[in-house]
Amino acid sequence: MIKAVRSLGQNFLIDPLIISAIIGVINPVPDDTILEIGPGLGAWTAPLLASGADVIAIEKDRRLIPMLQKQFPKLHLIEGDILEILLDDILPDGNKCKVVGNLPYKITTPILTHLLSKNHLFSSFTLMVQKEVAQRITATPGTPHMGTLSYFIHRFAEAKMIFTIPKRASSPEPKVDSALVQIKLRQNNRQYHKDVFNLVKIAYGQRRKMLRSSLKRIIPPQQIENLLARLSLPGTARPQDLSLEHFDLICQQRELQSQKLENLLENV
Ligand code: SAM
Repeated sequence: MIKAVRSLGQNFLIDPLIISAIIGVINPVPDDTILEIGPGLGAWTAPLLASGADVIAIEKDRRLIPMLQKQFPKLHLIEGDILEILLDDILPDGNKCKVVGNLPYKITTPILTHLLSKNHLFSSFTLMVQKEVAQRITATPGTPHMGTLSYFIHRFAEAKMIFTIPKRASSPEPKVDSALVQIKLRQNNRQYHKDVFNLVKIAYGQRRKMLRSSLKRIIPPQQIENLLARLSLPGTARPQDLSLEHFDLICQQRELQSQKLENLLENV
């Protein structure tokens, strides 16, 4: 019997009805290439392989590797850390991959940003995450949960909350409920633009402040007000009042000094 390790976010999904509902949402078919993050004891892996899809799984816990290898001879299993693996090296060229997994909660945001920085490799992500994180992932501009993570997601994809999953569906029980989210990547993705992301990160780092105050170390307040006026926004606007395009336009209109931003980010 393998003892769950909290630092690896090991809450294994045990409810067969929920597992089968999740597989229904993923809808694996034989032509699919699927990347599973953290297969754990194989609750998702078994039905994914049974569909005939090609499944690549990355598992950090080396105790689980022999069992997974034995149980799933067809699985392409990689022992390692999803955040350190060079995704271009392990995924096949040509076939965009579906990413799935019940994510270790503590590293959900780094995993998502890691995946999104390589968004051209993927068609969708179907992920079980903390319910509160699911709300942030699916938030839209102008709504209370909107933040840097939502911005990252919406730049590249459409995200939907599919259903919530109660704590009792996992063992050991996590402290909070979860949810399944599906994130569908747009085909003509915009480039990952570092300056815009840095700007969003600084603005949402002080989300309750007006932009003329939170951005004042990189853009003088009067200039921010002029930029906002050109976008028909009030000088008192806060980050949640801006759409994704507004941030793009601010970045284009103002020559942001990347180096200065980088230094500032260390203090955000
Ligand atoms: N998929 C299984 C399930 O639903 O029962 C396990 C999910 S459990 C919430 C998270 C899994 O991710 C664990 O198997 C854990 O060992 C693995 N894991 C944790 N951190 C990881 C990382 N950085 N890279 C890859 N796998 C990781």
